[in-house]
Amino acid sequence: MALLTGDDYRRSLNDGREVYIDGERVYDIVNHPAFKPIIDVKARMYDMNHEAKYKDKLTVKLSDGDEICRAFKLPKTKDDLKGIRTYVETVLDDLGGVVYRVGDETIGEMWSLYDAQDRLNEIDPTYAENIKHHVARVAKEDLFHVSANTDPKGDRSKLINGEDGGTLLHIVAENDKGIVVRGAKFETAAAYAHQAFVKPTISNWSNSSVNMENYAVGFICDMGSPGLKHICRSPVGAGKDPVNYPLSSKFEEIDTLLIFDDVLIPWENVLFHRNLESAKYIRETVHRYSSYNYVLRILRRADYLIGAALLNVEQTGLTKIPAVQQKLSELINYRETINAHLTAAVSEAQLSSGGLMMPNQSLLYTGRVFALKHFPEMAHLARELVGGQLAVTPDMETMTDPQIKEYIDRFYSVGEWSAEERAKLLYFARDMVNSSYAGHQITFELFAQSPPFAQHAAVFNNYDLTPNREMVMKAANLSSSLAFQS
Ligand SMILES: Cc1cc2nc3c(=O)[nH]c(=O)nc-3n(C[C@H](O)[C@H](O)[C@H](O)COP(=O)(O)OP(=O)(O)OC[C@H]3O[C@@H](n4cnc5c(N)ncnc54)[C@H](O)[C@@H]3O)c2cc1C
Repeated sequence: MALLTGDDYRRSLNDGREVYIDGERVYDIVNHPAFKPIIDVKARMYDMNHEAKYKDKLTVKLSDGDEICRAFKLPKTKDDLKGIRTYVETVLDDLGGVVYRVGDETIGEMWSLYDAQDRLNEIDPTYAENIKHHVARVAKEDLFHVSANTDPKGDRSKLINGEDGGTLLHIVAENDKGIVVRGAKFETAAAYAHQAFVKPTISNWSNSSVNMENYAVGFICDMGSPGLKHICRSPVGAGKDPVNYPLSSKFEEIDTLLIFDDVLIPWENVLFHRNLESAKYIRETVHRYSSYNYVLRILRRADYLIGAALLNVEQTGLTKIPAVQQKLSELINYRETINAHLTAAVSEAQLSSGGLMMPNQSLLYTGRVFALKHFPEMAHLARELVGGQLAVTPDMETMTDPQIKEYIDRFYSVGEWSAEERAKLLYFARDMVNSSYAGHQITFELFAQSPPFAQHAAVFNNYDLTPNREMVMKAANLSSSLAFQS
């Protein structure tokens, strides 16, 4: 199989998928104003893989001679992890903005399951074969693969299989062709992706007192499957003027409520089913690889915050004021701490049980918590440095209206910065920290890789507390006969 082109990708979306947005059924998703910008971004990513100047960074040849996208190569060495970083940075540099759910982040969730082949083999050897097949298939067929983790859960105080069980995704039938599933998932990019790894939601999968087997299911689902309905949220940026909204008009990623109305999942796409141990395992490890790609995006967002704040204070002559420098230094500290986590996570990378090279889990998960916890504070600092013009500047049509140009030039130009150039910078900063899209992105970042409590659980579960306990035992001369809770 070959690397897809942008046009191959566009054509592949014409598969009869059932997509709804703003009260209409979408029949031509590639040209629909809500989806066209982000589909064009993904198409550009596909085309980049064919350009001579990017080939080395974005693609790689496998031992069998097949050429695949660099982001899909199973990481076996630290250099492979560095290659992933180069991939993400090269793509984002070319695009001039940040997109998350474009395939490279979500492939890692299948690698987490690939690591569990031994355990899957004990349950049913076909599961291990299936995950190997799908990891290779995404790479060889260059598929746009996304991630479906979260169900609309209803009343959280009720048990998973109580009266609300019907809202959670579960198996309703099995036949010789496969399993039939019913339920729903939230999923960014589903409407314009090829397939998703659908897996159990966050829950207590160790609870053996209730019958949860029907919910413990993981599979690959084709996004054009009969019975699958994509119910999308309204756009907040797509369709807006690209001059006034340089980021939201291009990079908005549409989120979907994906309804599985008795969807048949063929056996070859079933990665596990009716198996609580697998459900528990995948929930514990799901972001083992993907959070690396995710935090790389937050790093790029931090870079844009610094750049937007810096250019604004430089043009207004504030850079030499120590208090302004201190604010910039806080932004730099934020950026460099994320960078340090990512860099150290690779230099201290660990071999997984499946023989893959995973970023150091403790350093990666603590980096993710740090990056997400402080982003709103840093966005606020950038907002403060850019100043109130961020919120009051008229759009470009007004700024360039010949009838009022004289006033605009007098009150908006500063030094070498024309009113028009200043407005462009303010529009960029607005889309980073002040537009509807900016607000949406902060919520996306907070939740898209699970909510904060689950991210803290990942930190707790991946940090080895033993040395800390032993250090204090020794220093405080505590009795070694004391018992501990594990
Ligand atoms: C823009 C956006 C895009 C998304 N994209 C995707 C996607 O692509 N794929 C996907 O699978 N999901 C996606 N999601 C869903 C996302 O993963 C969930 O929103 C997230 O996991 C939280 O689940 P919930 O919304 O059901 O919140 P709930 O589970 O209801 O939790 C809400 C809040 O309650 C508190 N809380 C709940 N349970 C506990 C607990 N046990 N301990 C402590 N506090 C608790 C926390 O404060 C938590 O944040 C997306 C969400 C958003 C907002």
